[in-house]
Amino acid sequence: MKIAKNTVVTLSMAVTDAQNNPIEETSGDGFTYLHGGYDDFFPKIEEALEGQEVGFKSTIQLEPDDAFGEYDAELVRVEDRSLFPKEIEPGMMFEGIPEGGTEDDVEFFTITDIEGDKVVLDGNHPLAGQALRCTVTVTEVREASEEEIEHQHVHGADGHHDHDDHETVH
Ligand SMILES: [Zn+2]
Repeated sequence: MKIAKNTVVTLSMAVTDAQNNPIEETSGDGFTYLHGGYDDFFPKIEEALEGQEVGFKSTIQLEPDDAFGEYDAELVRVEDRSLFPKEIEPGMMFEGIPEGGTEDDVEFFTITDIEGDKVVLDGNHPLAGQALRCTVTVTEVREASEEEIEHQHVHGADGHHDHDDHETVH
C-alpha cells in the first residue's frame, strides 16, 4: 500500500544534527502519524514519503524553518525567582500561560540561568535554530478510519485513546 492522503504511517526514525550527532531515536513501535497535511508531522518529511511503501528508507535534511523554527532572541526573558517552585535548576522545562492569556496561549519555556532572585527563561524550542537530519524507515502503512480522518489524528490499536478536546466518546 502506498502512502497517500488519509493513510496512517508508522516509521522508525533517527534524528541527528547537521554534524551527525544523535539527538533522538524512536524505540519500540516507532512513530505513527496521519499522513496528508494534518499538521501531524514535519511537512517536508511527509512530502518525501508521499507515494512510498513499507521498507522505504530515506534521510531528509530539515532546515530550522522546516523543523522547530529559527532561534528568536525575543523569546528570552527574565522573571522573579519567587514565581517558581523552590527546586528549580537550569535545563528544567515548564509550561505556562502568559499574563492576560488563555489556555490557548500556553507556552513552553526552559530555564537557562538562575541568578540571585532572577530566573532567565527561553521560550524557544530546545531544537530551534538547528538543522536536523532525519533518517526514516517506513514500517507500516494502513488506511485511516473515518473517525481518525474526522479527528485528524491517529487512534491506538484498540480504537481508543484519551482526548480531552473531543466531545465524541469512542
Ligand atoms: Zn480522536
